[in-house]
Amino acid sequence: MKIPFADISRQYSLLKEDIYRAVDQVFESRAFIQGAFVEKFSSEFCRVHGGRFGVGVSNGTSSLVAALRALGIGYGDEVITVTNTFFATVEAIDCVGAKIVLVDCCPDTYGIDVSQIESKITKKTKAIIPVHLYGNPADMKIVMQISKKYNIHVIEDCAQAHLASFDGQAIGTFGDIGSFSFFPGKNLGAFGDAGLLITGNEELARRLAQEINHGRIGKYEHEFFGNNFRMDGIQAAILSAKLPCLRDWTNKRQAISKIYNDALIEKGFKTMKVIVGATCSYHLFVVECANRDEVQHKMLDDGIETGIHYPIPCHKQPAFLNKYKNERVDLPHAERISKRILSLPLFPELTAPEIERVLESFTKIAKK
Ligand SMILES: *Cc1c(COP(=O)(O)O)cnc(C)c1O
Repeated sequence: MKIPFADISRQYSLLKEDIYRAVDQVFESRAFIQGAFVEKFSSEFCRVHGGRFGVGVSNGTSSLVAALRALGIGYGDEVITVTNTFFATVEAIDCVGAKIVLVDCCPDTYGIDVSQIESKITKKTKAIIPVHLYGNPADMKIVMQISKKYNIHVIEDCAQAHLASFDGQAIGTFGDIGSFSFFPGKNLGAFGDAGLLITGNEELARRLAQEINHGRIGKYEHEFFGNNFRMDGIQAAILSAKLPCLRDWTNKRQAISKIYNDALIEKGFKTMKVIVGATCSYHLFVVECANRDEVQHKMLDDGIETGIHYPIPCHKQPAFLNKYKNERVDLPHAERISKRILSLPLFPELTAPEIERVLESFTKIAKK
């Protein structure tokens, strides 16, 4: 039997009736765009994270764009983020016309090296986007200290970090805005694209809601140039049906990751570290090895799918090199780990025998 990298069908078969009922309700009420289901899910998801205002959005990329715009960030401004992230983080910065300023990742957590942020701050710096990569929280204490000291906004990219926390507080509630994605493969996945913004600031929440809906103040009156980044009612209803499972799914991801971690560390492999005070939601389980590509191919021969997140750091992407060709960006940790990291199969329904098989196959082939 094949072991997939992620398997959405296993949870679907369990939730099928709830999801059909949810979708049927949307069809009956015709609340296809925004409306009651979007409002319900936005406030539920926000509440689960201890946030104040939730704004449903079309996906986790447009949510970052809307967040930057709502904070007034655009041409001439600089935004600092980490090179080891999904491309959408930097794409959003480019989309509003701001300059992408990258720092390296930490070689142990694989997330943003917060000790490098201050050295990148200039008069033009308007925001920091810490990415809670793989569900592993960035050190928000340090990020918020820097934010206060220099009066710079913070937008947390929580696309991989539903229910992750730092010092007992849900990530996404530290900065000005938290941005989530419900891409089908994320810890909470829609059946299509969806995203959400969380903020503690009422005025900013209003601005965000307008930003994603044509800058509207009335049906055909537009206060500023916004966009159509609205969430679908169907996606919201499906997400509401799935939300009650999120805690349990997260617990299972954490439990599976602990089994992986204990076994691999005992064998001397290097896995992702979680800083003191942080609770990782384990969107991905990442381990290093010297012969990564060989391991990936041979594990596939053993019937086991793995992933690489990410094979090319953002500063090495053709799009970035092309646009920033006059700049020299050296981020050695990200470059090194991008050749060594492998993401093992991880989803809540993964069985004990499957976990065993993954570990057996990996440790048989992988070299430190
Ligand atoms: C998935 C992801 C996004 C983008 O989310 P979409 O909903 O796919 O647009 C942004 N940042 C990170 C870190 C992601 O993993």
